[in-house]
Amino acid sequence: MLKGKTALVTGSTSGIGLGIAQALAAQGANLILNGFGDADGARREAEQAGNGIRVGYHGADMSRPAEIEEMMRYADSEFGGVDILVNNAGIQHVANIEDFPVERWDAVIAINLTSAFHTTRLALPGMKQKNWGRIINIASAHGLVASAQKSAYVAAKHGIVGLTKVTALETAQTGITANAICPGWVLTPLVQKQVDARAEREGIPVEQAKRELVMEKQPSGQFVTPQELGALAVFLASDAAAQVRGAAWNMDGGWVAQ
Ligand code: NAD
Repeated sequence: MLKGKTALVTGSTSGIGLGIAQALAAQGANLILNGFGDADGARREAEQAGNGIRVGYHGADMSRPAEIEEMMRYADSEFGGVDILVNNAGIQHVANIEDFPVERWDAVIAINLTSAFHTTRLALPGMKQKNWGRIINIASAHGLVASAQKSAYVAAKHGIVGLTKVTALETAQTGITANAICPGWVLTPLVQKQVDARAEREGIPVEQAKRELVMEKQPSGQFVTPQELGALAVFLASDAAAQVRGAAWNMDGGWVAQ
């Protein structure tokens, strides 16, 4: 379905980004991977998921605009541009506002929000030229509702939902769509850290901390999986989703229905 398209997935060396990259690869899209994790491992998994696709990697630090520009130039010169842009790279920091380290605030906003502005502004001219593009921003249930101790993350995720809507409006009469996906809890390295912190804080086994963390927010009691999110990204990239524009689509076990 996506043969001949190129997808750039930021933060795709693990977790949700890798799951989405594999799902797009399975539909025939070429991939540009990015992230600080095991790049060779991610590349192998992506190549296995796709049949004869091209897989590239760029190690841009998504908190640095100059490196993002370099990555987009690499996409242009090596792949003829980006057709499907998945803004996924993200970090978390948990603290009360008055204790929130200023440097952590800046990093969360830069990586989780500002990087998507840079990739979007640099990808749009090429997409407009082809009159086809898909921008998929990985927001969060925290793009729709808040939790205490997550000021920077919640601000960035609400921000990226807003950026998604503006992008969708500015491209409304083109073949480019922009949408956000708002996952609930997914058991990735980002969340494992929060599970481990909870187990230590409360002196409980890790398995119990995991169950309690999910149940606190998600009525289903089940984690969302990177594979399920990959399937939603594939749908948003498909022709059937041509008129899905500016949506903030939650996949969250019922979290924001409450
Ligand atoms: P993860 O830690 O598994 O993956 C994050 C990816 O981003 C990794 O590849 C990491 O190397 C990369 N990354 C981090 N900082 C970077 C930087 N400065 N430059 C480039 N890459 C960088 O986490 P995840 O849970 O898969 O998170 C992916 C996205 O999904 C994030 O935006 C996160 O906010 C969002 N999300 C996660 C959950 C969840 O429960 N895990 C829920 C909702 C939304």
